[in-house]
Amino acid sequence: MTMTVLDIVTLPDKILRKKARPVTSFDDDLQQLIDDMIETMREAPGVGLAAPQIGKSIQLTVIETLPELDDEGHEIEGSRELFVIANPEIVWRSRKMVDGIEGCLSIPGYVGEVERHEEVRLRAQDRQGKKIRLKVKGWTARIFQHEIDHLNGVLYIDQLTDRENFWTEAEFDAIMAESDEEETIPEM
Ligand code: ZN
Repeated sequence: MTMTVLDIVTLPDKILRKKARPVTSFDDDLQQLIDDMIETMREAPGVGLAAPQIGKSIQLTVIETLPELDDEGHEIEGSRELFVIANPEIVWRSRKMVDGIEGCLSIPGYVGEVERHEEVRLRAQDRQGKKIRLKVKGWTARIFQHEIDHLNGVLYIDQLTDRENFWTEAEFDAIMAESDEEETIPEM
């Protein structure tokens, strides 16, 4: 199958603010769209991509988790997990919240701090339309919450921990350099 890298829609495109409609048909066209979205996410590179971000207002998202690293900081082969999620519904949220820095492929050049639930449980459908239940935590839960927000027209800039906690990538790199820390912010 051929895969195409799709154009990513950025602000102020209005499709990013629309509530996406449910996926009803899990046909060949949808399978092709899913493969193209996975290719687009990997090429970006990003750890998640929601259908509105490529101009389709449907409840579909692909997510690929951050890899685990070995002692030398190299990616452990096979430690990334790929999810294809249609029609997700969060059915439980942990009371515990965590702050983290996020970037969005539709808001290029910026990062911001957002508070998310540490763990969420959801109901959804897989790429064949089969009903699934998932429990995710930590960074994976953060990506899921960011992507499900996209399906509801919500962006991370709507929920910054503070209006000040929003930086250009250059500003953020400068802050990191000063504190002697190193952090690459995943985009999604
Ligand atoms: Zn995003």
